[in-house]
Amino acid sequence: MNNLSKSHPRYVSLNIREAIVAGVEQGVTSIHGLIVHGRGEAFDYLIGEKTRLFAIEAIAAAAAILLLAEHPVISVNGNAAALVPDELVDLGKISNAPLEVNIFHASKEREKAIQNHLKKHGASVVLMPTEQAQLSFINSNRKFVHPDGIFKADVVFVPLEDGDRCEALRKMGKDVATVDLNPMSRTAKRASVTIVDNVVRALPLLIQKIQELKEAHPTMLKEIISKYSNKEILQDALQCTRTGV
Ligand code: ATP
Ligand code: MG
Repeated sequence: MNNLSKSHPRYVSLNIREAIVAGVEQGVTSIHGLIVHGRGEAFDYLIGEKTRLFAIEAIAAAAAILLLAEHPVISVNGNAAALVPDELVDLGKISNAPLEVNIFHASKEREKAIQNHLKKHGASVVLMPTEQAQLSFINSNRKFVHPDGIFKADVVFVPLEDGDRCEALRKMGKDVATVDLNPMSRTAKRASVTIVDNVVRALPLLIQKIQELKEAHPTMLKEIISKYSNKEILQDALQCTRTGV
């Protein structure tokens, strides 16, 4: 960790960056993950590094689809594992969703490192990619999934998704909820629900929202979803990146 004082204006941002660097050093995050993070940082800067109303609305919709899901699954890559391991474990527990490792750059060692990392943070089961179950419409390493996980899921929560797989999951009839700071990415556009916020801020809020809505009647959850428009949310987010409001 760095020795920055809390009063440093970039204290939070630089500590998040340190977490990604630590992820690379531990073999959890790929070196490409640093570039992904840099892109995220740039968009976070543009939205003022805070959770905006469009994210809060998307968090409510994501909570509702996770609570209504029959087989929700949380897909974890190297960046998410480095940034929010405790929150991913808590989210899995509260939404009854297994965690499943799924990474773009093929590496058995890194898949294992992510699994161990999540277990160290309290996960009981972490599903791994298999050759028995493969996603259609996709050619990368991300097509290999677990038959009881992403393969049979009706809702997949995928922070920091790549556009190709988001599209493939949607074509397979699954709902996708994602966290992506770039409102223009293909992922953001293709997902059912896009939370345009830093995953570090969004996950605790999502967990809190699920706790709040856990006893809510399904009719109320369905209403939250029916009122939600991902397109409008992305327009608001895009406007915020351009005008600051
Ligand atoms: P697409 O294929 O969907 O167009 P992409 O190629 O732009 O996506 P990827 O590298 O596949 O992007 O995915 C990373 C995305 O995650 C980027 O849009 C980036 O802005 C975003 N991102 C990076 N770090 C964070 C973070 N900490 N919180 C939320 N989003 C992040
Ligand atoms: Mg991509």
